Amino acid sequence: MGMSAELLEATNMVKSLRVAELREFLSSIGKSKKGLKKELVQRVTGLLQKEKRPDLLSTIQELYKLRQSTTGKNRRSQVISIPPSPEVIAMPTAECLSKPDVVTPSLVSEPQMIKLPFYQTLETIVPLVPLVPVSALKLQTDSITVCLTPNQWTQIRSSQGSNSKLKSFQVVLRMCYTESVGVEDDQYPPKISVLVNGIECDLQIRYASSKEGLEPSRPCCPINLTPLLRQTAVNRVTVMWGNYGKHYSVAVYLVRAFTSTDLFEHLQNKAVESEEHCRQRICEKLCCDAENEIATTGLQVSLICPLAKTRMSAPCRAQPCAHLQCFDAAFYLQMNERKPRWTCPVCHKPALFETLQIDSLLSNILQSTEEDVEVIEYLSNGSWRPVREECESNKTPDHSSLSLKSEPVLLDDVVDLTQCSTDDDDCIDDKW
Ligand SMILES: [Zn+2]
Ligand SMILES: [Zn+2]
Repeated sequence: MGMSAELLEATNMVKSLRVAELREFLSSIGKSKKGLKKELVQRVTGLLQKEKRPDLLSTIQELYKLRQSTTGKNRRSQVISIPPSPEVIAMPTAECLSKPDVVTPSLVSEPQMIKLPFYQTLETIVPLVPLVPVSALKLQTDSITVCLTPNQWTQIRSSQGSNSKLKSFQVVLRMCYTESVGVEDDQYPPKISVLVNGIECDLQIRYASSKEGLEPSRPCCPINLTPLLRQTAVNRVTVMWGNYGKHYSVAVYLVRAFTSTDLFEHLQNKAVESEEHCRQRICEKLCCDAENEIATTGLQVSLICPLAKTRMSAPCRAQPCAHLQCFDAAFYLQMNERKPRWTCPVCHKPALFETLQIDSLLSNILQSTEEDVEVIEYLSNGSWRPVREECESNKTPDHSSLSLKSEPVLLDDVVDLTQCSTDDDDCIDDKW
């Protein structure tokens, strides 16, 4: 980045200055102060480029800061279109400079970003503003300014203190499609990169591109700007993004970020289904579903998490799930922390955080059975029994180790989720 990013920033600062300020600046360094604003801007940016004097740059920065602090009372944020390519910056054309350089965000605050389990929105710092695509420009650059109040800084500082485990307060950038109305999903453009004050943000989490080459990878989580924000200055957040005909909006929020451990604790405290309810569900499946053949045989449930492939410790499922089979809550939350999919690994229907419930009956069964018990069966009399290897008696002692590894015979709804168990570990990532 280096010089070009700095010049880019300076050019935009110059453009935001008033004519009187530009004239004062030019006359203070003995240059002509005649002409229209367009010409004054051109003259100042030309000077900054030719004479690489740090004192000129810092004077512009001072003027810009003053300008921001006087306009800031009415308007905390603004979108500034940056000239798209370095060639344009090197030789500013009339067309580029005559473009409106400041676009105020729409006052209609109708669209809202969807609530995310891992982020609690505390304050809106920059409300959703559309990034206007410039046709025939594949890679586009837009900029917003972000100013934090002293209170917001206090909150951020409090979570950066001596206790490094509390990284909870963050300033995040979120994006969504502009076209849709109402509550918006996060949607990040392809080839996105985000710069804060000229320094590139670390976009750690990206969806793998499904069609190689056709669909570039992109982030799937809000982008954390916090480490690069400066308290003393106006922060310039630059979004570079691939323009593939879709319209995006961008917003900046102060959030409280949660970890999968936080969410797991919440589940354990707030979302445990009572044993009585769990028994009722099994009863309905076993003896009230008269047409179902299962009623005569009992219901088998695997104690192995279909995702983690290990014994569950906190078995859970989503409220809309019709199956008895559970998955491990802690592991499911960890997977969604990496990539938010919120899809049930058993029935592949949505399994949103708010709908998750820990099955306390199965929790107790897990605690009361030996480690080698991998399947249990719910019986029609309301009890349950561990399912041991049925073929053990047919095998010679030499093959006992093999029979331990062989899979138990499972009912239809259970078989589905163990399909993956013979594959290698990669299959988790394929599904996720
Ligand atoms: Zn019944
Ligand atoms: Zn399900």
